Amino acid sequence: MSRDDCLFCKILAGDISADIIYESDTAIAFRDINPQAPTHVLIIPRKHISTINDIETEDEAIVGSLYTAAKQIAQQAGFSDVGYRVVMNCNEAAGQTVFHIHLHLLGERAFAWPPG
Ligand code: 5GP
Ligand code: ZN
Repeated sequence: MSRDDCLFCKILAGDISADIIYESDTAIAFRDINPQAPTHVLIIPRKHISTINDIETEDEAIVGSLYTAAKQIAQQAGFSDVGYRVVMNCNEAAGQTVFHIHLHLLGERAFAWPPG
């Protein structure tokens, strides 16, 4: 999928509305439309990168900024100390459905580990 028909690029352009809760020079974050936890936020780079497989060395700072955004959002929401989960899926077998990389930030929900 190219940037022209990318859902998240349309959110970045303001063509599709979203509940945006964070913005920086390199990233924005908005609430997932189908939340899997009381707080479920998607953190995306302003740059269109389709999958983890498309991340280049020059993108390392951008990708790192997704994690500092996660940290800040969790701190502001008040669950950074208790804990939270961040996930990035790559390609269909992992469940990726929107091909513009994004971190899922899931908070205020218990996650069992090890699973099962
Ligand atoms: P993926 O499955 O690619 O890892 O995650 C895509 C996420 O985008 C899903 O959790 C899905 O609920 C969310 N999503 C899909 N369409 C929209 C939308 O139009 N707005 C918002 N806010 N989230 C969306
Ligand atoms: Zn995009």
